[in-house]
Amino acid sequence: MPKIFRVALDTPLRQLFDYLPPVPTHGAFPAAIGARVRVPFGRRRLVGVVVAAAEGSQLPLTRLKPILGVLDPVPALDEALRGLLEWAAQYYHHPLGQVFASALPKALRLGAAAVPSEVHWLATEAGVRAAAAAEPRRAPRQRALLELLSQQGGVTADWLDERAGAWREAARALGARGWIASREVQRTPEPATARLRVAGPPLLPEQSAAVASIEASLGTFGAFVLHGVTGSGKTEVYLRLIERVLLGGRRALVLVPEIGLTPQLLTRFRERFEAPMAVLHSALTDHERLAAWRSAFSGHARIVLGTRSAVFAPVPELGLIVVDEEHDPSFKQHEGGFRYSARDLAVVRARHGGVPVVLGSATPALETLHNVAAGRYTLLRLERRAGQAQPPRLVLVDLRSSAVQSGISTAAVLAIERHLAEDGQVLVFLNRRGYAPTLLCTACGWIAPCRECDARLTVHLAAGRLRCHHCGADIPLPPRCPQCGFTVKSVGQGTERIEQALGALFPGVAVARLDRDVVRRRGDLEGVMRRVSSGEARILVGTQMVTKGHDFPNVTLVVVLNADQGLFSTDFRAPERLAQTIVQVAGRAGRAQKPGEVLIQTEFPDHPLLRSLLAAGYDGFARAALEERAQAAWPPFSRLAALRDSARTADAALAFLAAARALVPGAPAGVRLLGPVPAAMARRAGRYHAQLLIESRERAQLHGFLDGWLPQVEQLRSARAVRWSLDVDPLELF
Ligand code: ADP
Ligand code: ZN
Ligand code: ZN
Repeated sequence: MPKIFRVALDTPLRQLFDYLPPVPTHGAFPAAIGARVRVPFGRRRLVGVVVAAAEGSQLPLTRLKPILGVLDPVPALDEALRGLLEWAAQYYHHPLGQVFASALPKALRLGAAAVPSEVHWLATEAGVRAAAAAEPRRAPRQRALLELLSQQGGVTADWLDERAGAWREAARALGARGWIASREVQRTPEPATARLRVAGPPLLPEQSAAVASIEASLGTFGAFVLHGVTGSGKTEVYLRLIERVLLGGRRALVLVPEIGLTPQLLTRFRERFEAPMAVLHSALTDHERLAAWRSAFSGHARIVLGTRSAVFAPVPELGLIVVDEEHDPSFKQHEGGFRYSARDLAVVRARHGGVPVVLGSATPALETLHNVAAGRYTLLRLERRAGQAQPPRLVLVDLRSSAVQSGISTAAVLAIERHLAEDGQVLVFLNRRGYAPTLLCTACGWIAPCRECDARLTVHLAAGRLRCHHCGADIPLPPRCPQCGFTVKSVGQGTERIEQALGALFPGVAVARLDRDVVRRRGDLEGVMRRVSSGEARILVGTQMVTKGHDFPNVTLVVVLNADQGLFSTDFRAPERLAQTIVQVAGRAGRAQKPGEVLIQTEFPDHPLLRSLLAAGYDGFARAALEERAQAAWPPFSRLAALRDSARTADAALAFLAAARALVPGAPAGVRLLGPVPAAMARRAGRYHAQLLIESRERAQLHGFLDGWLPQVEQLRSARAVRWSLDVDPLELF
């Protein structure tokens, strides 16, 4: 037995903790690497994970405490998963114990068993003798139960409920005499079978080529980008590959950007395969999450489907990873301490596990396309739509020279009329919910501000409220100006107002709306979708939500009301997001037999990125945008990390970052520090936000620098006055 065990604990300290072996007690499991253990920590008891065994400690052994108990007979984190998590802890510069903790459901962090157990009842030796002597003579129920258990050892309560009626009282009496006993045993998982229910359709040539190329990589690492518009047959490619993996006895891990997409995909998996599946996403209760994790851990589940954190799901004998809509920013965890990209970690996991990973998208991220150009990923294209021939036609509408009413140009109104007359449906996209983004006093110029943020309150007219979309502040809509008493006016457009305007423009035409205000409860989304797919609603107004994979078979026209939010942002990624959004909403047009049309309203019709998007599609845009990034030395042509903080005062927020910067003498090799600067919206929910950017051309230099610097940053006195975090490869800069 090793002298000590190194344990990772869920604490912010960047270190492991040494413990002595557990005092041997009957039935305890050995302290294996990757097993969870319960240990004393100060006055508390914590659950941690054994990371290493060693012969000595830097501390005298007399000061070490023994492990209190080992919780896992089989390590909860297997070698492959530990490798991934250790890699992630290093790359994202986050304490290993916290990284381990974020890979485990809460119940397991608190010590629940990784393998479910059940209670078995059996007769003891004395009990068997008693049964043979037909004891206890005067209690027929007890006698019957003892008889049963002496013949059928190790049965569950369920079994007894079924066969022995009201048995518990008898069991108590027999137990008291030492004739029967119960013991906890691990439940053996049901066999993990997988069968094809129905064969898929014959593949189109490009699908066949993609499947063949990825299939050839089964059993070894390979990163594949499956680039094809919505409806081009990407999911069918996933299904074929999963089929191969399942029939080969292995398992598949499938990641989607948000919960809303899990039911659709799950339905398609269930139609195709008869195989146990585990679903992991943020809306599960702790209990459901534990059950799903256990199903994955035991190997029972053959397909594990989930959102971001499912990249850490245990999947024994993993054969394939699929990341659908890989460009989606939701794959980036941008809150809390451990900020990771599930898309990037999926690639790392595939590399560690020696399996292929498929990154599917209609609009691959520029980073991903850059990896293709660099030869690291293989690009597979699906050009044709399965079912339909032409891509939609994109047209720009110059808002400066058009008559505009409530944000809708005459050209758009005419196009909507035309498509409605031809029995098409229309999708109107505006990425702003509420009625109007501003409430203004026409006399004194007062604008309704949020008290806690550097932001305006959004008018929600139907609800009669003013709401802050940043901190959630929610107050009654004032009938008059609180400053001068004059009338107030809503300025600008949100989806609620557009819905109303369209209703007035097209009387008798039913308009549906899809945004977070409409979709509040489970079932709301389905309700809206039903109105649209049944054809009852002819026009759908919506936010970003409409870009997410929902099927709108009859939409022939898409109107993008305002493309300009994305063109001139402080965030260098805004144009990429805009182009992705336009292409994704455009993908909603003309999916069935009818060709689609897309109108994009803008005040900057000559913007080079819009022009490249129109002239050469997403590929042309991506080329132009990557060129710009290369010239400006933005990622992927450089590496970034953001040290961010927030504090009660702007001074405190800046002071900590300034102190962190001051720790760096002169100019470190190959690394530039930019800032600190206040965030673009400095005050949010009453706290001031600021950031310091760390940039380098070389990944190794950036990480070498962070390795030396962060431990010092942590020690700063001013760190205690702020909440800070490090974000490696930040997706949003503000
Ligand atoms: P994507 O995932 O790219 O949106 P899907 O795989 O969902 O595309 O395919 C779009 C539609 O075309 C689906 O209804 C699908 O069943 C159908 N489809 C896909 N591939 C084929 C094929 N080879 N033959 C016939 N229909 C197909
Ligand atoms: Zn006023
Ligand atoms: Zn606010």
